[in-house]
Amino acid sequence: MEALVSDILAEMTLAEKLDQMHGIGFLPVDGLWHTAENERLGIPGFRMVDGPRGVGVFAGTATAFPVGMARGATWDLLLEERVGEAIGREVRAKGGSVLLAPTINILSHPRWGRAQETYGEDPLHLGRMGVAFVRGAQRYVVASAKHYALNNIENTRYWVNVSVDERTLREIYLSHFRMAVQEGHVGSIMSAYNRVNGYYCSGNIPLLSRILKDDWGFKGFVESDWFFGMWSSVESALAGLDIEMPAPIFYGNRLFAAVEAGAVPEETIDEAVRRILRVKYCFDLDTNPPEPNPEEVATEAHAALALEVARKAVVLLKNDGILPLDRESVESVVVVGELADTPNHGDNGSSAVAPPYVITPLEGIRNRAGGVRVDYVVGNPLSEDDREAIEAADAAVVVAGLTAEEEGEAIIPGKGDRADLGLPIEQEQLIAAVADLNARTIVVLEGGSVITLETWLPRVEAVLMAWYPGQEGGNAIADVLFGDVNPAGRLPSTWPRSEGDLPAFINDQSQVEYGYYHGYLHVDREGIEPRFPFGYGLSYTTFEYTNLALSDETVPGDGALRVGVDVSNTGAVAGEEVVQLYVSCTGSRVDRPVRALKGFEKVPLAPGETRRVLFDLAAEDLAFYDVEAEDWEVESIAYTVNVGSSSRDLPLSAMFAVDSVESHH
Ligand code: BGC
Repeated sequence: MEALVSDILAEMTLAEKLDQMHGIGFLPVDGLWHTAENERLGIPGFRMVDGPRGVGVFAGTATAFPVGMARGATWDLLLEERVGEAIGREVRAKGGSVLLAPTINILSHPRWGRAQETYGEDPLHLGRMGVAFVRGAQRYVVASAKHYALNNIENTRYWVNVSVDERTLREIYLSHFRMAVQEGHVGSIMSAYNRVNGYYCSGNIPLLSRILKDDWGFKGFVESDWFFGMWSSVESALAGLDIEMPAPIFYGNRLFAAVEAGAVPEETIDEAVRRILRVKYCFDLDTNPPEPNPEEVATEAHAALALEVARKAVVLLKNDGILPLDRESVESVVVVGELADTPNHGDNGSSAVAPPYVITPLEGIRNRAGGVRVDYVVGNPLSEDDREAIEAADAAVVVAGLTAEEEGEAIIPGKGDRADLGLPIEQEQLIAAVADLNARTIVVLEGGSVITLETWLPRVEAVLMAWYPGQEGGNAIADVLFGDVNPAGRLPSTWPRSEGDLPAFINDQSQVEYGYYHGYLHVDREGIEPRFPFGYGLSYTTFEYTNLALSDETVPGDGALRVGVDVSNTGAVAGEEVVQLYVSCTGSRVDRPVRALKGFEKVPLAPGETRRVLFDLAAEDLAFYDVEAEDWEVESIAYTVNVGSSSRDLPLSAMFAVDSVESHH
């Protein structure tokens, strides 16, 4: 492959090389963002399209899957690989060759407007989900992990400068990108709009050259984010930005002039073009280019997958025993709230999808109700008839949550981030009013990340989080309500009691500093009790953990530990548990988190069944980034493994030590 690329490169003029390094226009063509082909040499162009929850709306109808955060809540890597595969397949069937996904910016704060696109707040969980998506997608197209890096604010995304120290950068904000590169072999990376430590990401030497390409050995190409993602010709080229999207402003003629003037060496151009050609030929875009095929888009199989994912994403947050609703004993249900009857599958920004249909919660409940009577009340305000209907029903289901009005991408600068973590006030009032009328009130929430619920939580019997659940969402919600599906989603982020329990979210300034601690790392360190901890979620059955065993008491610094634990389903129905493994350490010479997630496994269990779950924990996964040595170090100290069902429910623990190894690559 390298020889082939060298041969082609040797044939190319400077102008031809530079043509490879930018998109061709400010509007998509047939729904796709093109880069140039070279007819003389038979080099294909790229055809790029969003995005993280399905093929982007510009390309027409496509399957709308649950958003990334919903999929993060499944903690199911094989399932996410199938989602990546399905979206990749639809992109290809639209004629696309590059899928502008996954979004793997960490959820450092849940007010981030694009929270829904990513998978959660923990680097390991996020990295594994991203790798799974990339693996699936790259069976059909090139995936593009974005936005590199520290794109965690919408309102000021086009200009904000994020300051971050090197250790926080490596361990918290980049380690999942490293996984996407080294484990997922992602073909491309999209640079972020913002600045990091003083330099725009699209011209950032430490990010693009030193870390991504030199340290991690990334072999693919980097493209800029769209429209306001580039600010220079020379700096960007020298930093290692390979393709300017969507059209040449700084590349093209200006870069040509810079090369002619000697400001950018031709070898730098060759290096960029080599990366671009390498991806094109590795993905056979010359011999096996994507061909539009409408029959492969929005298929029944993909709708079934969207339903499966939506079911597995539901997190049951509270259940005083009312759920599941028993069709035998419940004669009537009243569904309340405007969102119950609103297609609500996520943001209208670049991640927007145009599905063939959307099953709303109300439709889903009607589809699945069997003999149960279903009434519907919009509410706000409640009329006298509404009140009577609510009082008369055997149970009330209020559908509340957020929409693209409250959170989304900053297509318009200065917008996008959430104003606060609560529900819109009218919805809180509606929940309280319904709970006053009907003692059997259930709340179904929709939204992209965290919702604070202190004011109304004690007044309702059950709460479930459905996220933005995609085109089949309503059916999935109803399946969980009626107990046809046992909920198995687990929170991929911390739900605090109030926003003050999280680090500040500064989204209106041009300068912010990110620290090491956010999410569970933060509340654990500060001793704050979250409302619902990271990893939490209820089930209609119960699980028990026993027999934790470690393969060794001491592990060499380049070795691995095997951890085994028995997990049993001690209830009466089948269910899935997400077994979580956290590690703490004592005696570190640097500041370390109370505990950090180091492994997880989704386990299906029949009633009464016990399974042994095994984890291989490599000593190098316990390393911290030593800023002085510019290297990862595995310390020879004592570590504790904690196993259980959430970051705050860890019934079993065991200690081990790592043998002296000074430094480790
Ligand atoms: C977004 C990217 C997206 C691109 C192309 C940008 O505004 O930040 O995530 O892939 O547009 O639509």
